[in-house]
Amino acid sequence: VSKKSTVKPKPRFLRVNTLRTTTDSVIEELNKIHKVDKDDMVPDMLVLPPGTDLHNHHLVTDGKVFLQGKASCMVAVALCPKPGWKVIDACAAPGNKTVHLSALMNGEGSIIACELNKERTKTLQHTIQRSGANNIKTINGDFLDIDSNDPSYAEVRAILLDPSCSGSGISTERLDHLLPSHSRGGQDDESTSARIRKLSAFQRKALSHALSFPSVERVVYSTCSIHQAENEDVVSSVLPLASSLGFELATPFPQWRRRGLPVFQGSEHLLRTDPEDGLEGFFIALFVREAAAADAVR
Ligand code: SAM
Repeated sequence: VSKKSTVKPKPRFLRVNTLRTTTDSVIEELNKIHKVDKDDMVPDMLVLPPGTDLHNHHLVTDGKVFLQGKASCMVAVALCPKPGWKVIDACAAPGNKTVHLSALMNGEGSIIACELNKERTKTLQHTIQRSGANNIKTINGDFLDIDSNDPSYAEVRAILLDPSCSGSGISTERLDHLLPSHSRGGQDDESTSARIRKLSAFQRKALSHALSFPSVERVVYSTCSIHQAENEDVVSSVLPLASSLGFELATPFPQWRRRGLPVFQGSEHLLRTDPEDGLEGFFIALFVREAAAADAVR
């Protein structure tokens, strides 16, 4: 049996933007024409049959719902920011996770959304406007240039880091690794691995930087990549630093069965999603330290 045949058709997911409406009222409206179920794991996430197209639905154009995949929504939920916290979204555009953070915080507290690319910062601002969130400040700049010791970041308690990645979990390239290597073409393999090395070097730097904020208690790292080099290897390379700063890996969504590849001790805390789960390929790692541990190393 080929592995391809086990890939299920993906249901359509949408996230209710609780800044603008309620899950019950969205269900009531959509139920008139669609079969709608609540997701059993992610709050305010609705599941519709594969192929349902809501792109032009007024709930979407009005920003009351976001067409956001389940795995993507698991990231902000894993970070679990509390209303009133100060939070950074380090690599934010187009902003789906930024506005999800705002909804989880009931719009209370503040979010700094950093984005390097100027055009994408405009998209981020548009997403924020569409969501109705009013506790988000955008910065068009490099997250690595944010000085973690600047007093204005002294109270940051949570950071979401979803950096640029190969996107191999969401593109058709996703299944390439299942093909025999001779049918993939040697040159492509070489340029792909050079690109992944470059991406993973940035991902390591950005993750180390996120861990360096003095009061941060929770850092979530995510990619939509299936490559170990962008996922488990990035996490394991920062573990000595993380542990010297008092962080431990926590287990987001412990009921989820697909965990990290078993390439280091502790990888069972990591979370992977896969087309075999009816989802896109995503990776999530969650670092947590007690506030007291942060005080001790400051
Ligand atoms: N979290 C976003 C969402 O759910 O909508 C997706 C983020 S996307 C995977 C990564 C983003 O990081 C891109 O928009 C990219 O331009 C931005 N980026 C890349 N390097 C960056 C850096 N050094 N500082 C800030 N943003 C960066």
